[in-house]
Amino acid sequence: MTSAVSESAPIGDGGVEGHVLDTLVIGGGFSGLYQLDRLRDLGFSVKVWDAAGGLGGIWWWNCYPGARTDSTGQIYQYSYKDLWKEFDFTELYPSWDGVRNYFEYVDSKLDLTKDIEFNTVAESCVWDEDKLEWTVRSSDGKQQRARTVIVATGFGAKPLYPSLEGLEDFQGECHHTARWPQGGLDMTGKKVVVMGTGSSGVQVIQEAAGVAEHLTVLQRTPNLALPMRQRKLTTEDNDRLRETLPERFETRYKAFAGFDFDFIPQNASELSEEERLATYERMWEDGGFHLWLGNFQDILVDEEANRTFYDFWRQKVHQRVADPKVAEMLAPATPPHPFGVKRPSLEQNYFDVYNQDNVTLIDSTVEPIKRVLPNGIETANGFIECDVLVLGTGFDNNSGGIMAIDITGVEGKTLQDKWAGGVDTYLGLSTAGFPNMLFLYGPQSPSGFCNGPTSAEYQGQVVSDFLAELKARGTRRFESTEEVERAWRAHVDEVFQGSMFTKARSWYWGANVPGKPAQMLNYSGGVPAYFAKWEEIKNAGYKGFEFQ
Ligand code: NAP
Repeated sequence: MTSAVSESAPIGDGGVEGHVLDTLVIGGGFSGLYQLDRLRDLGFSVKVWDAAGGLGGIWWWNCYPGARTDSTGQIYQYSYKDLWKEFDFTELYPSWDGVRNYFEYVDSKLDLTKDIEFNTVAESCVWDEDKLEWTVRSSDGKQQRARTVIVATGFGAKPLYPSLEGLEDFQGECHHTARWPQGGLDMTGKKVVVMGTGSSGVQVIQEAAGVAEHLTVLQRTPNLALPMRQRKLTTEDNDRLRETLPERFETRYKAFAGFDFDFIPQNASELSEEERLATYERMWEDGGFHLWLGNFQDILVDEEANRTFYDFWRQKVHQRVADPKVAEMLAPATPPHPFGVKRPSLEQNYFDVYNQDNVTLIDSTVEPIKRVLPNGIETANGFIECDVLVLGTGFDNNSGGIMAIDITGVEGKTLQDKWAGGVDTYLGLSTAGFPNMLFLYGPQSPSGFCNGPTSAEYQGQVVSDFLAELKARGTRRFESTEEVERAWRAHVDEVFQGSMFTKARSWYWGANVPGKPAQMLNYSGGVPAYFAKWEEIKNAGYKGFEFQ
């Protein structure tokens, strides 16, 4: 670390620790930590601010019972620096604490925490055009100057709370899944109500059903959940899975969603019913996201093909749920939306719990919630007594975590104002008027359609290469132009409009948040197309950016 550099020195010259950093990274999940490590290797002075109280990124916050990844641990880890060679996952799909253990392991190898300030909530970032630096302030009064800021808050940093009359007067325990008490919460023998049946809801429902005196599930849209096929892993299993990992890591770059598998290069619509069903059955036995992102290539683009899988899925659910009325609520004859255009969950015993006497399913589109009372919930049909109210109601995804920070760029203009009518970015990485700022896993990148650690590494590499280049050039200021971000927004929208993702109201395009501009926030053209685009930009000397 150099100790005496002028305040307007180039990006990457080492900065002055505690005074002006080369880079402040906001957010210490997979993306933020990867960036910390890479930039330190490049000689940057860098720190991470994380709102969480410890390592884990999104898994620090989402520690509700049953929280676990829907990706296998093997592919939900870093592939670089041989980190994958030593860590053993105890389950095929790691739980939140399994992922936290993994982060601790990474920290033991890379010595990250010495440069992380936990419990530090970035409240504002203000650009100084004279000094060419950002001043970032935290909610507890800390201040940090930095030549570049990387916002790596993830796609789910801002929980979405439902607007329910009386919620604040509820006298029992009420927790959003993403703000679960760190010490846990025992639901044994309690009357539990879970609102929401997204990925978080499904997971907490499976756990609550096993211990609650009574569990009531408030479902607005059924989750077209797929079998997880969870299993414990021994050391030998880990060794065996490691054998093929290098090739599997390579595949991520070529696959639509950054996984180690891709769609079957065949159309379901061109096969006989018998052939199609045989493939569905085989994939069903294996479980996992193959059924979604490794299914026939026309499943997410052709409604008829899609329906063949929906009908197959529906029949599987009906076989497991004893009461036909409940089965119909969970898997209706008319699909709520085409399969896979809203994120399906992986489940273990989700559909089976509805056969238990202590579990009730309520369709809140038929029996709406009227208000929350101090001891329960009043619906259109009556009263549900409740000790524990779980809000599995999701997030203000993609842009919410960034816009929660008060960001002021060139000429005092704020990001909140700029994005009030919708997000504009250059490949989800930067936005005009906010120089020397980059977003990781940001809006208009593939984020929702890309395995997190894959994005952390590939997009992280893009960013660290970019910053290394700026360091080599002696650059002090960079900014992408409005012209290129208009073009990117139009492209993201065009790909979306031509897809079936328009057919479900989902967080992918902001439809889950009342009043949020309806706009595709997750690039749905696929991981390979995204990185090919970036390669083009890079080869053209980082076309679309202006440098000083
Ligand atoms: P989500 O998918 O947005 O689901 C929220 C649920 O709450 C939906 O069922 C939604 O109904 C319901 N809801 C929201 N507001 C409501 C309201 N006012 N009244 C009634 N119901 C309401 O959120 P999430 O389950 O937290 O998952 C978000 C994303 O995080 C996932 O898609 C996934 O990418 C990630 N995640 C991953 C894992 C994992 O890997 N295992 C676990 C959790 C989360 P509607 O569907 O009708 O809107």
